[in-house]
Amino acid sequence: MIPQGALNFALMGQYVEIPEDCVFTVEYSVRSAMHAVYGLFGVDRVIPPIYHAVADPEVSVRALHTLLSGVTPDTVAAAEAG
Ligand SMILES: Cc1cc2nc3c(=O)[nH]c(=O)nc-3n(C[C@H](O)[C@H](O)[C@H](O)COP(=O)(O)OP(=O)(O)OC[C@H]3O[C@@H](n4cnc5c(N)ncnc54)[C@H](O)[C@@H]3O)c2cc1C
Repeated sequence: MIPQGALNFALMGQYVEIPEDCVFTVEYSVRSAMHAVYGLFGVDRVIPPIYHAVADPEVSVRALHTLLSGVTPDTVAAAEAG
């Protein structure tokens, strides 16, 4: 991220603040680097939008299905063990 007034430096990685994004992911760090590099070097490329999983109905339905299916880490481990 480029601090207001900065011309030749930027901050990136997990210690910068990107509104609505989730800190502590590789995706977050890469997005912050894109903001820094594209901004400083005038790169005209689109930064991928933030993915809001909780607002995705397909993800919600899948999560609900998993919750109601009774599957637990123990049943998965038992199934894998045969
Ligand atoms: C155990 C663990 C599991 C994780 N699992 C996931 C996961 O499943 N999914 C996910 O999205 N994220 C995960 N993360 C988080 C993710 O790894 C970090 O958010 C991401 O790697 C941060 O990237 P970064 O480029 O900001 O920093 P880093 O990847 O930490 O890179 C910083 C680099 O700077 C170098 N450096 C530091 N100081 C100097 C110096 N003075 N001079 C030169 N170089 C220096 C370091 O050596 C390092 O290579 C996990 C993190 C941990 C610790």
